[in-house]
Amino acid sequence: MHGLCLKEPCAQEPPIGYPNAMSGYSVAILGATGAVGQEFLKLFEERSFPISNLKLLASERSAGKVAQFAGHEVPIEAVTAQAFEGCDLAFFSAGASRSKEFASAAMDAGSVVIDNSSAFRMDPAVPLVVPEINPLTVTESTKLIAVPNCTAIILTMALAPLKALGAIDRVIVSTYQSASGGGAAMMQQLLDETREALSDSAQSTVHNPLSKIPPYAFNLFSHNTPINEHGFNEEEWKVMQETRKILGMPDLKLNVTCIRVPVLRAHSESVTVEFKCPSPSVASIRKALSAAPGIKVVDDCSANRFPTPLEASGGDDVLVGRIRQDISNPNAICMFIAGDQLRKGAALDAVQIAELIVANRLAAVRS
Ligand code: NAP
Repeated sequence: MHGLCLKEPCAQEPPIGYPNAMSGYSVAILGATGAVGQEFLKLFEERSFPISNLKLLASERSAGKVAQFAGHEVPIEAVTAQAFEGCDLAFFSAGASRSKEFASAAMDAGSVVIDNSSAFRMDPAVPLVVPEINPLTVTESTKLIAVPNCTAIILTMALAPLKALGAIDRVIVSTYQSASGGGAAMMQQLLDETREALSDSAQSTVHNPLSKIPPYAFNLFSHNTPINEHGFNEEEWKVMQETRKILGMPDLKLNVTCIRVPVLRAHSESVTVEFKCPSPSVASIRKALSAAPGIKVVDDCSANRFPTPLEASGGDDVLVGRIRQDISNPNAICMFIAGDQLRKGAALDAVQIAELIVANRLAAVRS
């Protein structure tokens, strides 16, 4: 296969595909030039993910460019159905249409596909995985795994530890979602419009009228996805459906409002959790959250220090704070959470899923 070979072939090496656990994996990223794709490259290096060969795929627009990885220049190739030949793991991050177009080809070529798009998330046959919550849904025979919506991942990370404390009845969420959730182009739009607004007092003239979103600098707006027949936008609907699937709570009542704010990176969420009985104490909730992997409690009332998207940016943990009793409802507690949706909300979750696969295969090879 093309791409970057990080290891000389070895005569005793097992064949490509399962079980290739001892030698490193042949990895492809579809969407390598995007906001999530770039995060994969950082995470593979940071976490020393075992890669023997790396193939970076994007659209025709990017073919011929290069990306930096582990001190090497890796060529970007335009994706084709044949591009996945020889890949063990294919990370898809180029939108639902590309996932639907290329997932079968990648699986037929022997790859396990880890898909960041919404294409397969609600397919009952496809596990929707947050490794801290439902790792056992990934088995030796799983060939396609969906990474949940970024807002749903951050939410479920904070909800899952509370399940053990009492029966959760209903969850009400308002989000404060960053530009990076809309990809590299939306981040650039926020930067450009903010710069222009600061350099030009006639702020209304800087917004491109062809943009699909309202003026972004010093503004906020309802999530830029279509509204369905129930009055919810696509993002809100995804968060509600996917949260039920991840937590294994098909009857969980949820009401979600998704808003984009002029923050560059990391989503925040205001969450009210109603239990079926009087809520667990704030102390027990703080204790359960403090003990949960991937959660950091930031809840210093005396210093007025709570989660912020800036503090969450670039980190792996979901930050949780403002933990308090809902004074209007003895069954409810409130909290405020923030998480880097390019990392835990997308690329990190996918890499953790791949690490689960690696661990499963190592266990199989050794048994
Ligand atoms: P992005 O920054 O806009 O990047 C899109 C990527 O897809 C680029 O690499 C682009 O390649 C590639 N692409 C677009 N059209 C293509 C085509 N026709 N053929 C091949 N490649 C194509 O978007 P992103 O934010 O990284 O999001 C990527 C995916 O992850 C989406 O499915 C999104 O829903 C999902 N996701 C994003 C987030 C987030 O926070 N951003 C969180 C969770 C999940 P070119 O550069 O060549 O155009």
